[in-house]
Amino acid sequence: RSKSAGRNCFTVYDEAMSAELVARNTLEGDLRDAIARCQLELHYQPFVDVIGGGCRGFEALVRWRHPSRGLIPPDQFIPLAEETGLIVPLGEWVLRRACADAATWPAELMVAVNLSPIQFKEAELFEVISAALRDSGLPPERLEIEITESVLLERGVENLAFMERLKSIGVELALDDFGTGYSSLSYLTAFPFDKIKIDKSFIRNLTHQPRSSAIISSIVTLARGLDMSVTAEGIETPEEFERLTALGVNFAQGYLLGRPQPVDRIEFGASVQPSRRDAA
Ligand code: C2E
Ligand code: MG
Ligand code: MG
Ligand code: MG
Repeated sequence: RSKSAGRNCFTVYDEAMSAELVARNTLEGDLRDAIARCQLELHYQPFVDVIGGGCRGFEALVRWRHPSRGLIPPDQFIPLAEETGLIVPLGEWVLRRACADAATWPAELMVAVNLSPIQFKEAELFEVISAALRDSGLPPERLEIEITESVLLERGVENLAFMERLKSIGVELALDDFGTGYSSLSYLTAFPFDKIKIDKSFIRNLTHQPRSSAIISSIVTLARGLDMSVTAEGIETPEEFERLTALGVNFAQGYLLGRPQPVDRIEFGASVQPSRRDAA
């Protein structure tokens, strides 16, 4: 079935197109099986409290352990999952797994879960989240939901009600990839976010583009005025970490502080602050 079949009177497939279609259908079938056969896994990346020091929690990042292709990163299957609707069962699995894992961690640690805009269209999303919390025993205050701006573009009123409902039970809300989309500042006042996550593209430019510092420092000021905290994501170098600390971000995340790891490799006792020696 071609996407354009409904709109055009006829559709011409060339060989490349049909090969692509076959590959896609195979991947779609595989992904359907993957959910049933438990081939998905969550890796966890720490985020660090810049002022207090130490780990504040972990972001759950899904991977697909494909029997022949190896470990597939989310960018290579989330879009397909979204197009096919498989994101709904996949997203529910992620929520349940992440809550169950976090329930076994030290009580001060949060878990952050990414939600797709497609999941927001599901009427039962609130029930899915509350069931994941109830069944795992994880206190709602330890769950943070990350959403991107694209969620806010449609269904503003329904989404606001949904977000208020999550907040009312204690779940935290983070605006992910801030600065990459439309970034209407009105979103920040219209929706009850606790946290803004500045996209890694700004962090990447930080050390060679002085203007990025100005942007980040404005976001920090804005967030403070709105009683929100700020995370800088994608920190790779000690220089970036130092600059962001000076600019007043609250939380830091990135390869410098810890790569995403399978749950059994997390070392809760280990320091995730870059040491003086590393920073020198
Ligand atoms: P995101 O939520 O913005 O996650 C951050 C991404 O940046 C992750 O990529 C992470 O591994 C990567 N990252 C972290 N630190 C660094 C760094 O220092 N340098 C660089 N270059 N990258 C860094 P990953 O795991 O490949 O995930 C990509 C995206 O896939 C995520 O972006 C998120 O939008 C989506 N995603 C991941 N897991 C899920 C999920 O369970 N559900 C949904 N709906 N989306 C997910
Ligand atoms: Mg995220
Ligand atoms: Mg992000
Ligand atoms: Mg992203």
